[in-house]
Formats: sequence, structure tokens, C-alpha cells
Amino acid sequence: MADTELRAAAYARYSSDNQREESIEAQLRAIKEYCEKNNIQLVKIYTDEAKSATTDDRPAFLQMIKDSSLGLFNAVIVHKLDRFARNRYDSAFYRRQLKKNGVKLISVLEQLDDSPESIILESVLEGMAEYYSKNLAREVMKGLKENAFQAKFNGGIPPLGYDIVDGKYVINEKEAEAVRLIFELYAQGYGYRQIIDELNLRGYRTKKGNPFSKNSIHEILKNEKYTGKYIFNKGTKKNHRMVKEDVIVIENAIPAIIDEDLFKKVQEKMKERKITRGANSAKRVYLLSGLVYCGVCGSKMVGCLSRGKYVTYRCSRKDRTKQCTNRDINKEKVEAFVIDELNKRILDPKVAPILARLLNEENQKLNREKAEEIAFLKKRYKEVEEQMKNIVEAIAQG
Ligand SMILES: [Zn+2]
Repeated sequence: MADTELRAAAYARYSSDNQREESIEAQLRAIKEYCEKNNIQLVKIYTDEAKSATTDDRPAFLQMIKDSSLGLFNAVIVHKLDRFARNRYDSAFYRRQLKKNGVKLISVLEQLDDSPESIILESVLEGMAEYYSKNLAREVMKGLKENAFQAKFNGGIPPLGYDIVDGKYVINEKEAEAVRLIFELYAQGYGYRQIIDELNLRGYRTKKGNPFSKNSIHEILKNEKYTGKYIFNKGTKKNHRMVKEDVIVIENAIPAIIDEDLFKKVQEKMKERKITRGANSAKRVYLLSGLVYCGVCGSKMVGCLSRGKYVTYRCSRKDRTKQCTNRDINKEKVEAFVIDELNKRILDPKVAPILARLLNEENQKLNREKAEEIAFLKKRYKEVEEQMKNIVEAIAQG
């Protein structure tokens, strides 16, 4: 070690949900002491502060790995090896990257060198760090599950209609009335907007004391707790593919506000409405796109959604170059007008014979043209045939 001077980067990481960890300051203090004692020059400091021990959000760590190729430092110092990586694979992966860049990893508390024993020690230490982290997560989960089996409140804001007394769900009668009203009105076919108006009219508020929004109504209508079911570990929005076995459902665990039948009816209605909404938002059909012409410049007019909400036909020249002053025309109006005119002029019984005659004439004209064309081609074919015959004869005669 004496022949090559060590220039080191310090790396410290702290997860705020694990109080047994050394703070970043404490980790850095230990690293600095180590550097002084061993004559190591500290050139850069990287720190990550994660909100949870299980999230893998380490921007500074990844930056440090990236910087290791720049030659700025030839060692990375951590307080403990478990600060460097979360598991063995991770550790092996990043250590190899450091090694490739000629950077060695040093742990203040663990003595590591490149002897075979140290390689074993290293993997044992990393294994223990991984075990500790997983075990901690499991212990936390166990506590939460225990709460679930006792139908205890697991934190957060309780849903409207319930209060938490001694860690248990208790019905709040006034709020429960609002919940029942929401379910009943929805089952009767009321929309979210109408339900909100009704709730506001009667002076109900959300759990946080705010006026209701479409979102809050939706959340309430979807909440199975109201039927007395206790559901724990339901997939969050980020992770809705959570394994089913991890979900704990306990029937009749908390006092019900809504009976099973009404809840089911509402769920079915929600599904139905979702389907109808989907159909309405399908791609719009512009019947007259390219068939209507601009009265100002004569360009074709095309279907358009102006300012994101008005469905219109717009002069295509204006649309492309803004060089036409004509205004958009309302889609419904112009289509209704055209359909009306079509009805009057074409679908009228008096018009039918005339239309038929015109179509026939057009058809005959087309047929005549075709016949003329065929005759012309036949004639050309004969001529070419004649010419070929002449050439063949000429060749035959030398
Ligand atoms: Zn125009």
C-alpha cells in the first residue's frame, strides 16, 4: 500500500426508517479518521439518504460508480460493507466495475484484503448484511400482519364513516350517513357530479373536512371496508400486481356500513359506466372530411378538435399555414345540414327516377368508353402481331 498513494472517495448511506443505523455524519467521521490514520487522501464524498431500507434509490452511489472511471480516485471507502450494496449480487457487480477501473473498496470496520480468506470473509459479511436487511423487513411485515389479524388500524387516515378508538374501527354515525347516501344515490343512477351537489347541499364533508371531489367519491364507492371486510396488504397503485397470498381478507372484521348486495350493485354499475364512457371516447368520425370546401379560399375543410373541446371542420389551408381567415364551422351543424339536404334532394321519392336515370347514363357512358378502349387495344394488338410476323420473315430470309 505504501508504494501507491491512495486517493479515496467516501461513500455513506442512511435510511431514515432504520434508527439503528449510524448517521451519515457519523459514517463520514469514521471514514475521515481512518483516512488520516492510514495516510489516505480523501478527494470526494458521496452520500445517499433513502426514505426506506428497502427502496433502492441511490443516485449518489450510481454517480460514484460512474465517476470511478475518471481516475479521480483509486479507492472507495465505506464505514461498513453493507453501506456499499444491498445484496451479494449487487455488491459483486459494482465491485467488479470498480476493479475494472482500478478502484479498490475499503471498509473501515471490516478488514479486507485480497487473500482467499478475505474473499470468503467478504462474502460472509455481505451475506450477513443482506440477511439483516431482509430480516428487518420481515419483522416489520410481521407486526403489520399481526395488526391485520386483529383487525386493528394500521395508520394513515381512516376512511369516511369510521373513527379509530383504541386502535379499532368504530362507526362515526354522522359520516356513515354520508357514505350510505353516496352508495344509494349511485345505485339509483346518480352521477358523481350530482352526488357531490347533494352531499354539499346537506353539509357533508370529507374526512379531512374538505368538499367532496369526484376522486373522493370514487375511492369511497370502491372501498370494501364498508361491507365489514378487513383487507390488508392490498397492492398499491404502483404495485397492483402484488401476489394474492400476501393479501389478508377478514370477513366481518369491522362494523359494516354498507350491505354486501348494495356494494355489489354499485360495483357492477361502475363497470357498466366505464364501458359506456369508453365507447363515447372512441375515435370521432368526421363524415365530411375533405368533402366540404372553404368558402373563403376554396381549400378542403377537415375535421378538427379546436382548443381541445370544440368539434369542428376547419379550412385545411388555415390549419397548415394560418393564411386563411375563415372560421371553423361546428361539426354537428354542418353535418346535420348536409344530411338534411341529402334527404331532400336524394332520398325524396320524386327524385329517385331522375337519380336512377342519371346513374344509368353515367354507367352507359363508362361502358361505352370501356368498349372503345377494348376495340382500340385489339386493333393495336393486331398491328403488333403483323409487325412481328414481318420481322420473323425478314430474319428467315437472311
Ligand atoms: Zn380557407
